[in-house]
Amino acid sequence: MPEGYSKYHRHPGKPARTLQDAANDQQIIIVRCDHCRRLVNYLATDLVQVLNPSRPVYAPPFACSKCGTANYMIVHVKTPSLADHGHLVIRRLLGVKSVWEWGNRALGDQLERDKDLKRK
Ligand SMILES: [Zn+2]
Repeated sequence: MPEGYSKYHRHPGKPARTLQDAANDQQIIIVRCDHCRRLVNYLATDLVQVLNPSRPVYAPPFACSKCGTANYMIVHVKTPSLADHGHLVIRRLLGVKSVWEWGNRALGDQLERDKDLKRK
């Protein structure tokens, strides 16, 4: 288990509940920053697509986007109720953006990109 995860493992006698466990149970990960009070709800099924599914569910998935630190973040896990449907706002994973990568190379140098294309 990577350094830093142990503090989010609350019951030494039991195995840590993982993000994958929460995703299997269709749970909501509620992340609150105690410093700036920002609160974000995520679906565990979204988070397992971008984070290590075996990480402890109570480890903050990201640093606070307002404060830039995860030091004050508290994670709660919730099973959605019928009343939540249509009302509870969830920060969803909408897609992946790709970006152009640029770098300086000497004229005539072969790019990794060209080598990759030849292999296919
Ligand atoms: Zn914050």
